Amino acid sequence: MKPLPDERGYFGAWGGRFVPETLMAPLEELAAAWEEARRDRTFRRELDELLASYCGRPTPLSLAARLTEHLGGGRIYLKREDLCHTGAHKINNALGQCLLARRMGKPRVIAETGAGQHGVAVATAAALLGLECRIYMGTEDERRQALNVYRMKLLGAEVVGVDAGSRTLKDAINESLRDWVTNVKSTHYVLGSVLGPHPYPVMVRTFQSVIGAEALLQIRERHRGLPRLVVACVGGGSNAAGMFTAFIPHRNVELVGVEAGGRGTTLGEHAARFSGGAPGVLHGTRTYVLQDQDGLTAPTHSVSAGLDYPAVGPEHAFWHDTRRVSYARVSDREALAAFHLLSELEGIVPALEPAHALAYVCRVAGKLPRGEAVLVCLSGRGDKDVSEVAALEGVAL
Ligand SMILES: *Cc1c(COP(=O)(O)O)cnc(C)c1O
Repeated sequence: MKPLPDERGYFGAWGGRFVPETLMAPLEELAAAWEEARRDRTFRRELDELLASYCGRPTPLSLAARLTEHLGGGRIYLKREDLCHTGAHKINNALGQCLLARRMGKPRVIAETGAGQHGVAVATAAALLGLECRIYMGTEDERRQALNVYRMKLLGAEVVGVDAGSRTLKDAINESLRDWVTNVKSTHYVLGSVLGPHPYPVMVRTFQSVIGAEALLQIRERHRGLPRLVVACVGGGSNAAGMFTAFIPHRNVELVGVEAGGRGTTLGEHAARFSGGAPGVLHGTRTYVLQDQDGLTAPTHSVSAGLDYPAVGPEHAFWHDTRRVSYARVSDREALAAFHLLSELEGIVPALEPAHALAYVCRVAGKLPRGEAVLVCLSGRGDKDVSEVAALEGVAL
């Protein structure tokens, strides 16, 4: 079977390039540069060197011994992306794309950010590589994430507030696209997940696939075999795609992506695209989208900002339809319980996003035989969420 996506960026019926004419040339230029860089040993060596000496890769694989004992079933291993520089997996992709921008002779990068995590990762990589950096952020998000706005400024980035529409992520994406079209000669647009028009989904997945490649080697050595189950949370889907890619050919390994079930199953109360969404086009790609009967993109909710997005990466849509990966939903409440459990039993405060993956593991691990392994992608640390959790639980800080 030919590797996916095809030349037009399709994973079966999903993906593609649904953009205005003006974006076609920049996307083709990017696809060609990416294709060339991907095959170039010097580029790969330079990226690997930065991932090792700057990000701290390989990240450890930790056996969660007390959590395993508590749940009483399969042995739970955590892939520690929380130990990456800047606290999450997003830096893997930000560094890769900034290195590509430099290779393309572009001195300037732009990015959109919602909660600020992707913006911080891009501002970090841009500072390291000496690139000019502008981050677009809805003014409502700027207000909610003041600390990350200041962090990006400390890193030398310019943060531009977008005062249009709902003043959140999707408005920031629209503004970034406008900037890119205008300044494409000097500028690369760093997209933050396996979303958007081709080649972004395949490029971001490839930059993140270091997670699964490392984890496969580590678990083979530590567990002396493959895991029975691999679990990751799915916002746009980049940490999950990065983890799953290495395990896709191993048909006996069950793969589960976990979406935000939020407060309930009503449209607007969650971000579970596979159980609540339908095929549609959003931000340049054809995928599952949460939408109302008229096809208007629906509002979403999740306790974790990183999972709170109405569309999912097109490759996940393909894995869903071909049933290679199954997708589950976990509520805000279950994720919060898992957030506390991991903190108390393992001394690791997880981000609220991977707390969703952990909550799913809490549901099923007890039913697995003791000899089996469960691998969880711990995509980020919880420092960014501590004050949010305190506020939700009525603790005054
Ligand atoms: C942004 C983020 C996510 C969600 O993004 P994906 O592209 O789905 O990986 C998950 N975990 C953490 C810690 C994040 O910062």
